Amino acid sequence: MGCDGGTIPRRDELVRIKKKKEAKDKEAEMAAKWKYCAISSKDLQPPIVSCELGRLYNKDAVIEYLLNKEAPNSSLLSHIRNLKDLVTLRLTPKPKDDQNKSTESNGANEYKYVCPIVGLEMNGNYKFMYFRQCGCVVSERAIKEVKSQVCLSCNKPFIEDDLIVLNGDDDEIEDLKNRMTIRRNKVKEEKKRKRTINNEDSTNGKAKMAKSDEHSVAGTSTDTTTTTVVKTSSLSVLSEKASKKYSVKKDPNATEAYKSLFTSHDSAKNRPKAHWVTFNPCYN
Ligand SMILES: [Zn+2]
Repeated sequence: MGCDGGTIPRRDELVRIKKKKEAKDKEAEMAAKWKYCAISSKDLQPPIVSCELGRLYNKDAVIEYLLNKEAPNSSLLSHIRNLKDLVTLRLTPKPKDDQNKSTESNGANEYKYVCPIVGLEMNGNYKFMYFRQCGCVVSERAIKEVKSQVCLSCNKPFIEDDLIVLNGDDDEIEDLKNRMTIRRNKVKEEKKRKRTINNEDSTNGKAKMAKSDEHSVAGTSTDTTTTTVVKTSSLSVLSEKASKKYSVKKDPNATEAYKSLFTSHDSAKNRPKAHWVTFNPCYN
């Protein structure tokens, strides 16, 4: 058809051929995603892990990437910050009989895993999903057929956000990206909230400490007042005692000459009284 001596191929003929090629490439690319690690491009070997965007990796390849941060497609891996961002998948191997059959028919044992619920082969023709909580991988068909609040394989409870579609199309990956961002923001906010609570706790603690300090200060001050009061009262008692009971006359330490200066002395009592004009009660 064309190019055989003057005939020019029509545009739609060329375009159709190109489209077919693209479709073939896409098919091959899709098939490869289910067979090879998205980092090392080696055959997928357990332990197989998946990220929040539903790609499949060999765990050792991810560990190597995390250590070196080097991979041919590292721009696609920036969302993997550490091993916590990955889930180890629980895959159901294809029964041995089936594996032999496919070896015979295809000439290669390409796909090793199936859905544990409905038995579909995980070969890229059907959608598969994993549960983030437990890592079990089941087909979308099983999830749609068996409506359940728990993992279909191990009965662990899950919410809708825990379901990650494996090797999804562009729209699905976009959705997974959005969900990942929301999830991570939530974690960040939660951390921030906890930090604020902790900070508040420590500030409250400090305030309490300060209050108790105030208390102790107040306590000491009242104590001092009381002691002062006690001291004053004891002093006054002493002075009272002194004024009431002490007398020079009875003091055995005072000399007779010293005692004679006072009106209480016998010599003073016997002294002749002075004239009334010059009378001074102090000297009578
Ligand atoms: Zn499970």
